[in-house]
Amino acid sequence: MTPTPPGERSSAPRGLQASRTGATPHSPKGCHHELAEILTAAEALCAERGRQLTTLRRRVLELIAEQDHPVGAYELIDRLSAERGRTAPPTVYRTLEFLQAEGLVHRIESLNAFVACPHPDRPHATQFLICRTCGATLELHDPAVAATIAEHAARSGFSVDRQIVEVTGRCTACQAAAR
Ligand SMILES: [Zn+2]
Ligand SMILES: [Zn+2]
Repeated sequence: MTPTPPGERSSAPRGLQASRTGATPHSPKGCHHELAEILTAAEALCAERGRQLTTLRRRVLELIAEQDHPVGAYELIDRLSAERGRTAPPTVYRTLEFLQAEGLVHRIESLNAFVACPHPDRPHATQFLICRTCGATLELHDPAVAATIAEHAARSGFSVDRQIVEVTGRCTACQAAAR
């Protein structure tokens, strides 16, 4: 079983702990990452790997990281088109592929949307807590969860390609608002 490909990670949670700007509380301790930190880390990582963090790639990462919710490709296309003139969908998809491959963003499968990863430098298995009311997404990194899934899969003779754990519910703020 493979916990998670190195190119997967994300960030962009909020809600649960109301971390702002693409910050991501991480379990178990919960650390917050500011937008600037995410961009700085991305630049350093790309330089180290000899990859180009072009203006467009950087901007897409920034647009994702600054949101409080996972961002879909169409939202990105709209934002970019407004900023720099018509931006073709394939351009955005290619950019997202790059960011995912480098582990700078994670794709939330159930929402078909993306969040920025605050820890793109190290491979990690991820679990996401997704608020179904506001979309706030909290990224957790619990190796024990990944190991348990891997163990059960192995016992069943199942070969895991990758693990994507997405849990839906309501964040603290939305629970409070509903009271
Ligand atoms: Zn991550
Ligand atoms: Zn919420």
